[in-house]
Amino acid sequence: MTAKKPYLETMPNEDGFFGKFGGAFIPPQLEEPFREIREAYDKLSKSFEFLHELKKIRKHYQGRPTPITYCKNLSDYIGGGQIYLKREDLNHTGAHKLNHCMAEGLLAKYLGKKKLIAETGAGQHGVALATAAAYFGLECEIHMGEVDIKKEHPNVVKMKILGAKVVPATHGLKTLKEAVDSAFGAYLQDTQNQLFAIGSVVGPHPFPKMVRDFQSVVGLEAKEQFLEMTGKLPDMVTACVGGGSNAMGIFSGFIDDAVKLYGVEPAGKGTNLGEHSASLTYGSEGIMHGFNSIMLKDENGEPAPVHSIGSGIDYPSIGPEHAYLHSIGRTNVGLCTDEEAVDAFYKLSQYEGIIPALESAHAVAFAMKYAAQNPKESILVNLSGRGDKDIDYVIEHYPIPLKV
Ligand SMILES: *Cc1c(COP(=O)(O)O)cnc(C)c1O
Repeated sequence: MTAKKPYLETMPNEDGFFGKFGGAFIPPQLEEPFREIREAYDKLSKSFEFLHELKKIRKHYQGRPTPITYCKNLSDYIGGGQIYLKREDLNHTGAHKLNHCMAEGLLAKYLGKKKLIAETGAGQHGVALATAAAYFGLECEIHMGEVDIKKEHPNVVKMKILGAKVVPATHGLKTLKEAVDSAFGAYLQDTQNQLFAIGSVVGPHPFPKMVRDFQSVVGLEAKEQFLEMTGKLPDMVTACVGGGSNAMGIFSGFIDDAVKLYGVEPAGKGTNLGEHSASLTYGSEGIMHGFNSIMLKDENGEPAPVHSIGSGIDYPSIGPEHAYLHSIGRTNVGLCTDEEAVDAFYKLSQYEGIIPALESAHAVAFAMKYAAQNPKESILVNLSGRGDKDIDYVIEHYPIPLKV
């Protein structure tokens, strides 16, 4: 008898497909540079030296392992299931994104690249990547829509302080899509010296696999910690989903176990196109940004406009592995509106002394609803980031509630 291979070793296939999702739909000029990244990663992911260096960085620079916190006050307040948090907000720079940015920086160093290049929407990926670039002594160029540059001023300043060059995308709607175009254009001019560093489990193969592998540390740590803390595995694990990197990170620890997995999509402020960014809930199959997945399309089949109060999760598609795991029934979708996210933002702050990022508050809100309905269960939430970046926006738009 042979033991069943762990899921993580079986997916994706060699061409980057998770079932029918994923792949690499790229223009001919990108085929060679992507082959180089793929082959390098294949080798490095088995290299003791690379993995050992990454482990040291995680421990001595990022502050890993991050703890698990039991939310006794919040659980008592709800009077249902027990809620626990995996504290990715305690990573250096305040979110899970550094887990893959440091690894991408290390990859660039091993490849002899001089510069990291990427696009950013709200600026979170840009800040994490600029941090990695500073650490590794690499140059960093972040492309950002002109509209977003005005909106996300603190992150733009942070990137500049960290030594990155911020390049405005000035065409079209001047937001994320244009930033992607602009960054790809700049990357194509010198694929020899630059590494394009994608910010989630999206994009052409090998990025969805690579970023998942880099984020899997979250789930592998969490499994061990949760067992040690409670003597059991959680009944349910949940995380918010934009592209899906923090969710794939925590799910990675539990896919082979009898644990329910819920990815929480932003239900925004309504069910009409443009009012939410719930790709799996309302989307259909399509190719965007170089991979096949489930996406929200407008009447011309183009990526639809999306909305979420969490600016890191307003993405019209979803990582191909999420589309796959959902299609085979391994994962479930939870929904959370803007209002529910703000309620959870305040509740976690008032009951536990933890101000969550608005993105992460979506997962907390869903866990609160789920706990109320499943009083016997234990629930582990990936708290993907801290909320400092969101406090001005929240108090301007939503009055501080009285603690009840
Ligand atoms: C960017 C971001 C997200 C969304 O990204 P995923 O790839 O879906 O994890 C979630 N939470 C925080 C705090 C973020 O910065």
